[in-house]
Amino acid sequence: MAEKDNRFKLSWSSLQRFELCKQKNYLVSQGLSAPGKDVRNFLAGTVVDSVQKSWLENPYGKMLDLVDSHFEKVVTNYQEKNTIKWRNKNDKKKIYDICCTATVELQPILEARILPYEYEPAKRFYETVKIKKPDGNVEEIILRGEFDLLVKDPSDNRFIVWDLKTTADNDYWKKSLGQLVFYDLVIISMFGQPPKKSGFIQPLCDEQVKEFYFTNEDRVQMWGRINAMMQAEWQGDHEPKKDNTGCSFCEVVHCCSKFNRKLFK
Ligand code: SF4
Repeated sequence: MAEKDNRFKLSWSSLQRFELCKQKNYLVSQGLSAPGKDVRNFLAGTVVDSVQKSWLENPYGKMLDLVDSHFEKVVTNYQEKNTIKWRNKNDKKKIYDICCTATVELQPILEARILPYEYEPAKRFYETVKIKKPDGNVEEIILRGEFDLLVKDPSDNRFIVWDLKTTADNDYWKKSLGQLVFYDLVIISMFGQPPKKSGFIQPLCDEQVKEFYFTNEDRVQMWGRINAMMQAEWQGDHEPKKDNTGCSFCEVVHCCSKFNRKLFK
């Protein structure tokens, strides 16, 4: 049996969660999330990701033809775990229609931007990096996650990282830009050089493809964020955030120290 890897694992979502609330990230990492987290808002993205992966593995015919089977599979899976809270009786159809529209818009983008190159959809990474601890020792941690689409341009053997966003919010990318810088660092660690570019494919937005070219300053800032999380982790700093915004919807509120302080000791 393979030995358990005890090195600390850090993903983009854990970094975001840590920056929102250290206590939340710690409790989630301990597996203490309440069961039945509502996935309704992620449903369309999950379905379109799944359709994209499947179509790119065999890119013939219409992507739209894959939506029905992937939609039913994803919805059935979540319903069995009782984790979709539909907003009204038309909500399921509404999400289905979003998936169809996104898929129709997505296919020509993939044909133009992905199919001419070497590519791998849903490419998982598990990358070792080294960080200096407060005591001066250097420790290995793991950056882990998944690129929606990793593309290699054979003309120069350089990589392009694409992330698919199934949102119609034209400003959503601003909240997610750090994700691409995080991926940029992973590519450097994996291949010794940064991607030639990174971008969001957002088929439901006015600007369907957004490309970015990151600088060393962007990378230093992201490395600083990763470093700050690790320093807090090594110091055992799992403080709950000060304000209560979003706390009532938090998946670990039931065991959060801020709301579970005993009145009598
Ligand atoms: S309830 Fe609020 S303070 Fe507590 S873990 Fe969740 S987000 Fe953090």
